[in-house]
Amino acid sequence: MPKEKDYSLVIPVYNEEGSLEPLWGEILQAMTPLCCAYEIVFVNDGSTDSSPALLKKFEGQLPEVVRVIDLFPRGGQTRALRQGLDAAQGSVVITLDADLQNDPADIPQILEKMKEGYDCVCGWRKNRQDTPLKAGLSKVGNILQRWLTGMTIHDVSCTLRAYRKESVGKIPLRWEGQHRFIPLSLSLQGCKVGEIVSHHRKRSFGHTKYSHKRIFKVILDFFRVLRARGRR
Ligand code: UDP
Ligand code: MG
Repeated sequence: MPKEKDYSLVIPVYNEEGSLEPLWGEILQAMTPLCCAYEIVFVNDGSTDSSPALLKKFEGQLPEVVRVIDLFPRGGQTRALRQGLDAAQGSVVITLDADLQNDPADIPQILEKMKEGYDCVCGWRKNRQDTPLKAGLSKVGNILQRWLTGMTIHDVSCTLRAYRKESVGKIPLRWEGQHRFIPLSLSLQGCKVGEIVSHHRKRSFGHTKYSHKRIFKVILDFFRVLRARGRR
């Protein structure tokens, strides 16, 4: 029987060889003082660089803590997250990206916020470090989403989030892109969703896997989630 964990970190990885070593160091720095039972589930989404070898190295260093799920071929961030969330054993599950744009140092604060009784707590990249076009489109999207849905959080697509285990089962991740609407999906299902202001950094290694042109698909996806009331 696998041991119960307090926390699971779920991290999708597609060709992030430059950031993985510093990310590993930052995670250990953030998690060790918490003195908790935790695991890190890395989901390698068909990487073709040296990411898989680095993940195996981390697993070899801390086999009690690290699990690596290898997907092949690349299936996209939504599928990678689904696999990671399904495998996670923690009472609280935290997701973050592998490219160092999210800061693991925010994890203790997000966990403190969860203790206030939230089903999900999201990061708010108040000082967002993406291109002005990407940051601007996201800001407009967030304003529209708050206006049309009554959601109160400011940054619906920040991937640094924590979930109570019971709410993980309510997250629909069936089609690519759906991970951007997890807070909306949970909120439409009556879950309590909160936020903390989180630190956001420029990408220093590798490159984004998305272009701003995805905006048209994101708008259609938003209405698809609303139509399904966040359930499919
Ligand atoms: N990612 C993935 N599969 C993909 C695309 C992205 O696992 O097909 C991972 C990627 O390695 C990163 C996270 O998802 O850890 C977010 O990707 P990215 O930083 O490119 O997105 P952005 O921050 O530009 O929205
Ligand atoms: Mg990124």
